[in-house]
Amino acid sequence: MKIICVGRNYAEHAKELKNDVPTEPVIFMKPKGAILLPEKPLYYPEFTDDLHYECEVVVKVCKNGKHIQEKFANKYYDQVTLGIDFTARDLQNELKKKGLPWEIAKGFDGSAAVGTFVPITAETDVHNLAFQLNLNGEMVQDGHTRNMIFNVDKIIAYVSKYFTINIGDLIFTGTPAGVGQVSPDDKLEGYLQGNKVLEVEIK
Ligand code: MG
Repeated sequence: MKIICVGRNYAEHAKELKNDVPTEPVIFMKPKGAILLPEKPLYYPEFTDDLHYECEVVVKVCKNGKHIQEKFANKYYDQVTLGIDFTARDLQNELKKKGLPWEIAKGFDGSAAVGTFVPITAETDVHNLAFQLNLNGEMVQDGHTRNMIFNVDKIIAYVSKYFTINIGDLIFTGTPAGVGQVSPDDKLEGYLQGNKVLEVEIK
């Protein structure tokens, strides 16, 4: 399986990191070993002094496909949750400055926290989901999937032009504004449509 991630998919977040609002999806990947399963803590990595949370809606792929048309893309995912795209922002900024790939800043072990998946039913519209992230009990991110620049179906159509997507792949769909630092002993909790689906402790 692979973890496909979208960067700068909410205009307010692109602006907070002083990036241009993209005209095409910004895609990167994390390796399988990046997954941090529910209930597991993240140990603060020794190579960064500026670890950031980015809370994102995550969908799970349920069908293999390539060159998927946007109108059929909703057949290719059947579960949704929240995840955290943990980012070593100091490393990422150095790499961005040099125009280099940022994998080590975003793909390290534990960098892809994944919550408990919820099945997508006829009543679930992934393009109309509210989600929040709390840091130590205080809300720090308040997002809505209707504010994505490229919605889930557009992301799948775009990505599948280049990569076959496979059953079990995860798609991190980008973070809204409000990203920030975490420190050891912090607790992050993610709420999807008001239901808690994610909890991560930093150690
Ligand atoms: Mg992200």
